[in-house]
Amino acid sequence: MTLARIEPQSLPAGRSEWLPFHRPIIDDDDVAAVVATLRSGWLTTGPETRRFEQAFAHALGARHAIALSSGTAALHLALRVLGVQPGDDVVVPTYTFAATGEVVTYLGARPVLADVDPDTGNLRAEDIARVLTPKTRAVVPVHLGGLPCEMADIRELADGAGFAIVEDAAHAFPAREGRHAVGTLGDAAAFSFYATKTITTGEGGMLVLRDAAAAEQARILALHGISRDAWLRYTAAGTWRYDILASGYKYNLTDIAAALGTSQLRKARVFQARRRRLAARYTRGLKSLDAIVTPPTRPGTEHAWHLYMIRVRADVLGIGRDAFIEELRARNIGTSVHFIPLHLHPYYEQVWGYRPGAFPNAEAIFDGVVSLPLYPAMSDDDADDVIAAVTDVVRRHRR
Ligand SMILES: *Cc1c(COP(=O)(O)O)cnc(C)c1O
Repeated sequence: MTLARIEPQSLPAGRSEWLPFHRPIIDDDDVAAVVATLRSGWLTTGPETRRFEQAFAHALGARHAIALSSGTAALHLALRVLGVQPGDDVVVPTYTFAATGEVVTYLGARPVLADVDPDTGNLRAEDIARVLTPKTRAVVPVHLGGLPCEMADIRELADGAGFAIVEDAAHAFPAREGRHAVGTLGDAAAFSFYATKTITTGEGGMLVLRDAAAAEQARILALHGISRDAWLRYTAAGTWRYDILASGYKYNLTDIAAALGTSQLRKARVFQARRRRLAARYTRGLKSLDAIVTPPTRPGTEHAWHLYMIRVRADVLGIGRDAFIEELRARNIGTSVHFIPLHLHPYYEQVWGYRPGAFPNAEAIFDGVVSLPLYPAMSDDDADDVIAAVTDVVRRHRR
């Protein structure tokens, strides 16, 4: 009896250790900043939060920045202070995360979904024009993965049709279109500091506004609708008296989180440069594979490289995206999928009447999309392991 020989090439190429899809970088400075705040005697919204807001506004060249408990809160408040009301329509790309659509319903308005660019997954002016109604009060372009949308076209349409622009910049810090930072290209912008985003406070967000009166209103609404700088009432400068000016929310950020945010912000350029180098390494390593489409870039823009989204061409490869992900998992590579288009979810089907087939560009992207690991804590060797694993999967399955 002969023993079956194990062919070396029948073992999947890969790594001995699991490469997670994401791992944040928290260094000693971050820890020290948080510990100092914990010891300061002031835990919630206060001086550290104001410092974070000012530093963030400065980094963008923005007028007003308000730190909040999440990016979702920032989207919600943006729409509210820009005047979205029950009965209004708000255009949202179907190719996005749950948060972008749900905030519209918080205000009793209707989320009107739109298709996206077939290559970038970004909302375009022509996609908006197709679903525009007389009730369209606002539009929320998402800079998908960190690639800026073509904002000049959207601005032109907005000026003619009279809707407000809220940038969903959850993926896009720091990114630029021309000389202008993403976050300063619309009437408002929402950033996220969720654990997986380009800089993090654990949970947190930032609302950026162009208009001073809207910013003042957002500050009030973020803390129960209580008269300006309600947190000052617990300082020597404050008084116990306050007025409730509107029905607001509990959306403030803690000083503990803000201290982490300011510390992370100092490293944002370094993080971005590292992401850019890793993305370039991926593209060099993968672009010759005809079964894989590497992510597009746009001349004149600076990509935040929050995500490195490839597309698997099932027509060339012979296996689909789900099997591709399992093959990478077997090679110890963690991946994710961004996003399942909103209109394919039961809520949007049942409540808003959307059906599969409604947005072909978004569906074509979703069919093949896979996000590869991309974060500053990764080494070049980690990226090379991912490239080797993807190449191996393609070699084994290519028709
Ligand atoms: C993460 C994310 C948000 C929401 O941010 P949170 O801080 O988690 O509330 C909004 N839009 C998009 C596209 C996101 O990826």
